[in-house]
Amino acid sequence: MSERYDPHCVFCKIARGAIPAETIVETSEAIVFLDINPVNPGHLLVVPREHHAHLCELPAAIAAHVGGLLPGLCRAVQAATGADGVNVIVNIGAAAGQTIDHGHWHVIPRFHADAVDWPWPHAEYLGDERAQMRFRIEREYKAMKAD
Ligand code: 5GP
Ligand code: ZN
Repeated sequence: MSERYDPHCVFCKIARGAIPAETIVETSEAIVFLDINPVNPGHLLVVPREHHAHLCELPAAIAAHVGGLLPGLCRAVQAATGADGVNVIVNIGAAAGQTIDHGHWHVIPRFHADAVDWPWPHAEYLGDERAQMRFRIEREYKAMKAD
């Protein structure tokens, strides 16, 4: 049983079986179940057992474990729903749409004619903004990796 447990967290409760869910797969590190309010039927949530608020705080080994589950889950969702495509999405923080503060992945079956408002709009970089942005993110990433 994970020691990283928040008794107020709905996903921690589902991972412990304290709240029921339509579970597809359980592993030592993660649990996969149907989203209760799906974007489209077959929408899955892939939830690490340990309570971490979001993906940025997740140990790399757990993220890698979940990453290893995703190809098979996407194939299963497509086969079961007849979806034309799949979105794999992670919301990090309220500004990005996160409502449950226990990091998780969405696996969402998609159809050519579905009502989902996607893809999102795209902006353009002006002048040297793109090169500056690349530099800033690379610098931050290298600094964090060195910690
Ligand atoms: P977020 O917006 O945090 O990225 O996604 C949270 C997701 O959890 C939502 O899509 C929501 O429908 C789903 N959800 C919230 N509460 C429950 C629950 O008790 N059971 C299940 N199966 N899904 C839930
Ligand atoms: Zn939790």
